[in-house]
Amino acid sequence: MKTLQHLQTINHHKYLVMKECFKVGLYRQGLLHDLSKYSPTEFLVGCRYYQGNRSPNNAEREATGYSKAWLHHKGRNKHHYEYWIDYSVDPGEGIIGLKMPLQYVVEMFMDRIAASKTYQGDAYRDSHPLEYYEKGAGRLGKMIHPDTAGLLHELLKMLAEEGEEKTFRYIKRVLLKQKKY
Ligand SMILES: [Zn+2]
Repeated sequence: MKTLQHLQTINHHKYLVMKECFKVGLYRQGLLHDLSKYSPTEFLVGCRYYQGNRSPNNAEREATGYSKAWLHHKGRNKHHYEYWIDYSVDPGEGIIGLKMPLQYVVEMFMDRIAASKTYQGDAYRDSHPLEYYEKGAGRLGKMIHPDTAGLLHELLKMLAEEGEEKTFRYIKRVLLKQKKY
């Protein structure tokens, strides 16, 4: 059990996301981000399958066929697009990704920056979160709402091209003021 290492990893991640969220005025989300990682269901799995360079959920999935910790996590944390997957009101559509509220799209964006920083360390560049997203985006299909995917992609491109300071200023002064997208 890598209890201390896992605790350190989740504390550090929370701290990075908190700093980012505070910069754009999302104080409540900055404080509450990923709190369920401290619940026994998620915490004990994290300690048991601690990896250091990737999510312990991947290791749990390989070991048992599915990640109980992730299923618990995505059902409780609104900054994951997976939280918003549900039956469409149009019965012909089946299960789809619903449009996420704006403040959670921003938190998802911050989460990706923090995760890239953690896994890349000193090699981190503002273009890494965009590269990571573009590698996986084609596989998301109907699981993420097109407007949500579009906004996330725009923010990641702005980050890669203009940097953190300018992008965060845009989020705070323009995007979050308009309240919808
Ligand atoms: Zn999370």
